[in-house]
Amino acid sequence: MKANIVTLPGDYIGPEIVTQAVRVLEAVAAKYGHTFSFDERKLGGASIDAFGVPLTDETLAACNGSDAVLMGSVGGPKWDGVEAARRPEKGLLALRKGMNVFANLRPCRIHPQLSGACPLRSDIIAEPIDILILRELTGDIYFGRRSRSEDRLSATDEMAYSATEVERLARIGFEMAAKRRGRLCSVDKANVLECSRLWRETVTRLSAEYPQVEVTHMYVDNAAMQLILRPSQFDVLITGNLFGDILSDESAAIAGSLGMMPSASLGAGTRGLYEPIHGSAPDIAGRDIANPLGTILSAALLLRHSLGLEAEAQAVEAAVARVLDEGFRTADIRSEGTKVVGCTEMGALVAERI
Ligand code: NAD
Repeated sequence: MKANIVTLPGDYIGPEIVTQAVRVLEAVAAKYGHTFSFDERKLGGASIDAFGVPLTDETLAACNGSDAVLMGSVGGPKWDGVEAARRPEKGLLALRKGMNVFANLRPCRIHPQLSGACPLRSDIIAEPIDILILRELTGDIYFGRRSRSEDRLSATDEMAYSATEVERLARIGFEMAAKRRGRLCSVDKANVLECSRLWRETVTRLSAEYPQVEVTHMYVDNAAMQLILRPSQFDVLITGNLFGDILSDESAAIAGSLGMMPSASLGAGTRGLYEPIHGSAPDIAGRDIANPLGTILSAALLLRHSLGLEAEAQAVEAAVARVLDEGFRTADIRSEGTKVVGCTEMGALVAERI
């Protein structure tokens, strides 16, 4: 197949890690006979330096004309003095909004080779952990009205959801669950919140259309506990923006390593925005020691969700697992008896194993 991929390396370690993910995608293209073209653009601080704004209209248009977007990370001390409206992070928020990606997907897997980095007891992670957290990204209390009383001593934040917003997120969850182990857990606070009651009603209504998916509902306080007590019970977990913000970071902590975690942000069609969950790591930039695996695994999500190339996505994930099996580690995930390699070498090792 032919695919047009926009790359947005961003700032500090961004270009280092994206270069390695592109190298792996090129290896996939060569092995499976695809043609991927890469259109590199600037985002964040790099765009501020070149054009004065963190995201240009041209870059957004290129993203919206592409099949998928692969991003590194943005921001860093160089732009700390820039006025709030033009900061690098604003470019990323504008990009998510401009691409209308409303579903944030974060897989949480514990690589058996890195189980030592997982803070949970070994008997809890004895069963495989493979969770897909789907967080609604454009609604909820983050986008409601806010107010503060005149005396500044009380404040309100409005939580709002429409059935349409819940439905479009839940549909993605049902479809993904149907392709995986067939289990969907919807997380809310329906014993207290009206938004959650609407959420639960909507998910229940949709479940009739997906008889192959087993649906459960869980209150968010219990879900936070169950993720720690018995994470293996979850397959796909869907939730709102606020609860998802917290639970997805909890799942990242369970997986143990920031540098390993991929993410995808999806909208109505197949186009998506793919990025590692970590930031631009200014403290290690330019030294070729960053871990590119979170970005490489984000490229695997790109193959799966935007290009529909499941076998190729699995080949990337298997190549990463093999490199870890063989004992190669970047400095952030090193442990005794492993071979420490740099960012470039890690990318090359994965690409060779495709
Ligand atoms: P960070 O994620 O950049 O770094 C936190 C720590 O993790 C650092 O010690 C860093 O060296 C390490 N780390 C992160 N990624 C790594 C990798 N791939 N390999 C090895 N080590 C890695 O978070 P921060 O320091 O709070 O933020 C730095 C900048 O990144 C800030 O400007 C922040 O706003 C921005 N940021 C951007 C995004 C994004 O682009 N999506 C996300 C978070 C933070």
